[in-house]
Amino acid sequence: MRRLAVVLALVCAAATAQARSTTGYKNGEKTQLKIVSCGNSEAEQHTAIAFRAMARAAEKAGIDLRIRSGFRSHAKQKQLYKDYVKGRGHLAARPGFSNHESGRALDIYITDYRVLEWLQKHASEYGFHRTVPGEAWHWEYLGGYEPKQRNARLSKTNRS
Ligand SMILES: [Zn+2]
Repeated sequence: MRRLAVVLALVCAAATAQARSTTGYKNGEKTQLKIVSCGNSEAEQHTAIAFRAMARAAEKAGIDLRIRSGFRSHAKQKQLYKDYVKGRGHLAARPGFSNHESGRALDIYITDYRVLEWLQKHASEYGFHRTVPGEAWHWEYLGGYEPKQRNARLSKTNRS
């Protein structure tokens, strides 16, 4: 139980306060993003808020949700794609077209079948969906999760 609590503390930074601005890509177009850290990864801020809520709910069910890979820079995606084309890496989308570059795709550690089972049952309640067939770990935030108390804070920090 103690381990779970420690892991959860690492899940995502208190979103908006520590957000940094960066350039990402969506459907091949550059886009400005607000990114926050989530454990050893980063995610777009609304995605991070939804993930935090989802991870909390999962923890109550004894499920440990952790991110293996979240936001990727364009340079990182280029490298992954190069490796993939050369037959050295996993399937990777063309640079500019991976949803990891919009910060909304999260690869989640599927440490045992219960993690996947929980996600299949509950992820959509938090706006997360599996979008790549054959990649059980790849979940994307498609929107729709709106925690009430956080909206005021979000609009404040979104002014810049
Ligand atoms: Zn992925």
